Amino acid sequence: MTSTYNFSAGPSVLPVDVLKQAQEEMLNWQNSGMSVMEMSHRGAEFMSIAKNLHQDLRELMNIPDNYKILFLQGGATAQFSFIPANILAGKTKACYINTGAWSEKAIKSAKPYCDVIISASSENNKHTAIPDRSEWQLDEQAAYLHYTPNETIHGVEFAGVPDVGDLPLVADMSSNILSKEIDVSQFGLIYAGSQKNMGPTGATIVIVRDDLLGHAQVGLPDIFNYEKQAAQDSMLNTPATYNWYLVGLVLQWLKAQGGIAAMEEINKRKAAALYTAIDQSSLYSNPVAKADRSRMNVPFILANKDLDATFLKVAKIQGFLSLKGHRSVGGMRASIYNAMPESGVSALIQFMAEFERTH
Ligand SMILES: *Cc1c(COP(=O)(O)O)cnc(C)c1O
Repeated sequence: MTSTYNFSAGPSVLPVDVLKQAQEEMLNWQNSGMSVMEMSHRGAEFMSIAKNLHQDLRELMNIPDNYKILFLQGGATAQFSFIPANILAGKTKACYINTGAWSEKAIKSAKPYCDVIISASSENNKHTAIPDRSEWQLDEQAAYLHYTPNETIHGVEFAGVPDVGDLPLVADMSSNILSKEIDVSQFGLIYAGSQKNMGPTGATIVIVRDDLLGHAQVGLPDIFNYEKQAAQDSMLNTPATYNWYLVGLVLQWLKAQGGIAAMEEINKRKAAALYTAIDQSSLYSNPVAKADRSRMNVPFILANKDLDATFLKVAKIQGFLSLKGHRSVGGMRASIYNAMPESGVSALIQFMAEFERTH
């Protein structure tokens, strides 16, 4: 197999330049005589890697000074529980928007900590359209409002940031962080697993506004306490050093591409091309309301389900990998994160057209 395109939802494709640089530096990082994996996290070499990582993320996302950046372990899933444990601040309620499988998991994990108010849900349309903001029921007494800006499995994405008044907005950006420009000051807390758009797994990011810190639940272990982690620059214990390094390389790559604004333009073009091809075909279709379609994860089904297995088999032979949809929704899914080049999306579109013609 010569060239391949990997459409995996996560862990997912990394920029080839990043993988090459990691390969070159694998045995001996910048003449230190050590692999990054072998370095003390307190040593000067790794401290410089960590410093650049923080600075580059702050610069790329334009993160204001009153926000802390944490790199933690446990994935986005652990934060589903640690968020209420850290920021309920004595309140008993939190609002959640249910737009798909990941929202549901966040809701389930929050329930042991507080009364979860479902302010809106797209369950009745099988998560194919985001409930209109005018229908949301907010509770002013809630500690925060949680939503999932991009539902990785259902392929549903908020085009903008919802206005929720004074409620701190908490966003699970696991699958669309760094894909488009956002105004961080509109959020109380942003979190994301690293393995979709930032690097390999294992460097979960939490960006949290200062005033939300310092109110953690009594008894919460320090290692899960955002304030304690912030005070130690996320080095309360040994961090996932190699994963931090790789995320750092992805951020440097992103800067070299022109930053998030430039990437957003490419992402718009990639998604528009793929959705247009799907909408114009009679074999493929996407069930999501046009305004709510994800730029990162594009699910599609074949009109004839019996062709699913053949489609995946032929795709794989031709180098189009990991196109199988999530087991809960079936069909296909092409994840087209930052690291998927436009040429990969064009090649996929051509392949799909050819498959349609021959089947
Ligand atoms: C992948 C994903 C998660 C889970 O991330 P883990 O790192 O596996 O815990 C949570 N939320 C969203 C939106 C995701 O895409």
